[in-house]
Amino acid sequence: METPNEAVPAPSSFLRDTMIEDLKSNKYGGRVHTRFPPEPNGYLHIGHAKSISINFGLAKEFGGKCNLRFDDTNPSREETEYVESIIRDVHWLGGDWEERLFYASDYFPQIHAWAVQLIKAGKAYVCDLSAEEVRQTRGTLTEAGRESPYRNRSVEENLDLFESMRKGEFPDGARTLRAKIDMASPNLNMRDPVMYRILHAEHHRTGKQWCIYPMYDFAHGQCDSIEHITHSICTLEFEDHRPLYDWYIEQLGIYHPQQIEFDRLNITYTVLSKRKLLTLVKDKFVRGWDDPRMPTISGMRRRGYTPEALRSFCGRIGISKTNGTTELSLLEHSVREDLNRRALRVMGVLRPLKVVIENYPEGQVEQMEAVNNPEDPSAGTRAVPFSRELYIEQEDFRENPPRQYYRLSPGHEVRLRYGYFITCTGVVKDAQGQPIELRCTYDPATRGGNAPDGRKVKSTIHWVSAAHAVEAEARLYETLFTKENPNDLEEGQQFTDLLNPNSLEVVEGCKLEPSLANALPGVSYQFERLGYFCADPDTKPGHLVFNRTVALRDTWAKIEKKTA
Ligand code: ATP
Ligand code: MG
Repeated sequence: METPNEAVPAPSSFLRDTMIEDLKSNKYGGRVHTRFPPEPNGYLHIGHAKSISINFGLAKEFGGKCNLRFDDTNPSREETEYVESIIRDVHWLGGDWEERLFYASDYFPQIHAWAVQLIKAGKAYVCDLSAEEVRQTRGTLTEAGRESPYRNRSVEENLDLFESMRKGEFPDGARTLRAKIDMASPNLNMRDPVMYRILHAEHHRTGKQWCIYPMYDFAHGQCDSIEHITHSICTLEFEDHRPLYDWYIEQLGIYHPQQIEFDRLNITYTVLSKRKLLTLVKDKFVRGWDDPRMPTISGMRRRGYTPEALRSFCGRIGISKTNGTTELSLLEHSVREDLNRRALRVMGVLRPLKVVIENYPEGQVEQMEAVNNPEDPSAGTRAVPFSRELYIEQEDFRENPPRQYYRLSPGHEVRLRYGYFITCTGVVKDAQGQPIELRCTYDPATRGGNAPDGRKVKSTIHWVSAAHAVEAEARLYETLFTKENPNDLEEGQQFTDLLNPNSLEVVEGCKLEPSLANALPGVSYQFERLGYFCADPDTKPGHLVFNRTVALRDTWAKIEKKTA
């Protein structure tokens, strides 16, 4: 693996303040040790990027450590493909776990031994109620639960039954191991929660070695304890689980990490539930987990988002104790800001319209000097061929221009970027009356884009020399959902009903300047006036494919709206 990216910046927050306090009071012997604990049941998404930036970022800031730990206690939904994708994505984001890559499943023997310890202490019992009966007897927020009739089994009987569970003597769901806490607790999580369940399933790492699996609450804190985590940072929905987290650790008398909760990231026009993302993939609403419309790290990478942009976004959103929703535009702003600094400028025409410059010598080719990146003089310049036949954008011509339309129209003069001033003298149309070719003249005195007589043109448009152009397919994206909050459903509505039918537009036959002929997948460019584009892995020799990462926010777009 190549070396990870630069440090993940940590947003300022109460999490940092807690760590500073704990370091001051020497609570953990001056250590900061966090972990990022994904469940390998899907690909990572932008919400995970927030958690990664917090866990790895804070550890780095305090000279501490952050582990990557797979929370693989649920064999029925987990797969090796997910493990591999997660490793790739955390690494790409700059998270560095050094040699500390762990799996909860590696600790199954220890967690099992701790379950036995709790049985022996009279703190856990085997319960024969079905999952449904456990639910029914749990009570409600206002009503205490009912004690299980199996609650007062002897330690010997419990040990014996738990051992039979482990040996596979009972079918799935026949029995559970439950903690003996308090069926009247105001916190439902404390009402004799299930610790172990029977599941005859093949695990991606332990195979058929186990047919009982610990529940999240009886695994997570135990793993944290084994790894000597100091701050176990998780999202707010686990706040009500913290008393249980603490109870298990106190009953076992083992090293005690501190669970701290922060707000989950939500983004407008986006779903971030893995279950929903899985539906989009399985039911083929998108082309895969790495479809550039997906809020997954792999989708964003394919679309052309950079790790720097995602880290800067995570630094901007802040961390709080209440859940909210972040504007998608803030994410796009971070992406633009980063790409503006680094992406080379090029010219490409998405929907070509032929231009013939009648007074330009046939067969002549000039190399025009174009700036590679105005934000970075060290990026230098390149030569762009200019000739008699060019392509311009269909949108940059109107036969009957509305008011304030300053681009090309009959009798009007515009500047070709890095080229010449040209004036439209005629329009060739097809049988339907659509322009298929423009006849123009150029002013040889305006080479490079300025008139010696000082006359001005109001518009500069991009172009590509027809004979030199390389062809490409462009994939243009809109939001995946039409509704700002696609989690807010009306009765009878499914979240997939809110999918945007125009989220992907494939434009074939684009014409790009020849410097793009060998564009490599993953490299970003700014197509002048059109946005940032990134070559897609579908690119093959002779068939370029570009994803539009994000459009430019520029005056052109505004004029277009006014005149549309
Ligand atoms: P889901 O509920 O969609 O299945 P999850 O929280 O169960 O997501 P995990 O793989 O368990 O997904 O998450 C790993 C870590 O990432 C956890 O610590 C979790 O709190 C954090 N995380 C997941 N989603 C978000 C989010 N939207 N914002 C911030 N952190 C998140
Ligand atoms: Mg989870």
